[in-house]
Amino acid sequence: MNEMRAVQYSEYGAVPTLVSVAEPHCPPDGVLIEVRATGVCRSDWHAWQGHDPVQLPHVPGHEFAGRIAEVGPEVTRRQVGERVTVPFVCGCGRCEFCLAGDAQVCPQQTQPGFTGPGSFAELVAIPAADLNVVPLPDSVEFVTAASLGCRFATAYRALTAHGRVQRDDWVAVHGCGGVGLSAVMIATTLGARVVAIDVSSVALLRAGELGAEVLVAGGDDVTSRVVDVTNGGTQVSVDAVGSTATALASVSCLRPRGRHVQIGLLQGRHSTPPLPMDRVVAKELEIHGSHGMAARDYPALLELVDSRVLRPDLLVGQEVGLDEAGAALAAMSQPAIRAGITVVRLN
Ligand SMILES: [Zn+2]
Ligand SMILES: [Zn+2]
Repeated sequence: MNEMRAVQYSEYGAVPTLVSVAEPHCPPDGVLIEVRATGVCRSDWHAWQGHDPVQLPHVPGHEFAGRIAEVGPEVTRRQVGERVTVPFVCGCGRCEFCLAGDAQVCPQQTQPGFTGPGSFAELVAIPAADLNVVPLPDSVEFVTAASLGCRFATAYRALTAHGRVQRDDWVAVHGCGGVGLSAVMIATTLGARVVAIDVSSVALLRAGELGAEVLVAGGDDVTSRVVDVTNGGTQVSVDAVGSTATALASVSCLRPRGRHVQIGLLQGRHSTPPLPMDRVVAKELEIHGSHGMAARDYPALLELVDSRVLRPDLLVGQEVGLDEAGAALAAMSQPAIRAGITVVRLN
């Protein structure tokens, strides 16, 4: 059996190391993808911390791009050599949700880097490739595509499908990590006025550069400050962190008929935040959850990236090699030194 390089951990919280493991098998309905770039995401960090249990030893990584190296016999729409990316939620391809194009909520979904080995490796296996694998326009580089697979796509869908952001709307973005900065950029591009909130001044500075009009340092009085500066609250607010405090602040800073979109995963002790449902009724607020974006919706986003209306490449803070991927994941335990997304580049 052939071996490949992969970054793996055998224990929660132990720094992942570069090792040699067996290459994955190509599923009959799937493909093997030669990974060329893969992002380092907060969700990988959560799994590594044991917040979201995985089978050990584990290879993380779920936002990636590369070339198809092998195609299973049941696949009809994909070919060896194609440049592709994949949503972090892969659908089964057979259930009512997948058939309706909503693979992001497929009950039998798989997630590379969570339910199985991920893309911190030279090869990754993706099932139901006709549904899940998305071809890339030639102009979209692997690093850019890897950077948009999870956080950027999630922010895009949260603001467009759920938030229904209109020109001149106020949009509050709670948390300016990868997904939050993506939301700032996308909301600004949609013509909205953005209030960015974060505890890190480095992150806020970057949010300002990307178009946020008002910067608010995170703390106890976030809600009243956002309501003040927007003259009564925002039309749309996203929690891009996933904590009790940020979810609560996000719902509380909305004006009547405003829309909260929960993007940050709520895990562990943050899994059931006490939301002010009295306010939801009185102000007719909408509460949405956003879980990535299905392959069906990628072409519209990739077109905006291809035409450079949206620039996820500007959110890439640093590129590292596969040998540095474990340290990059572990570094997420500390406040960010650099703003933006870390992408692992494979040669
Ligand atoms: Zn992610
Ligand atoms: Zn399905």
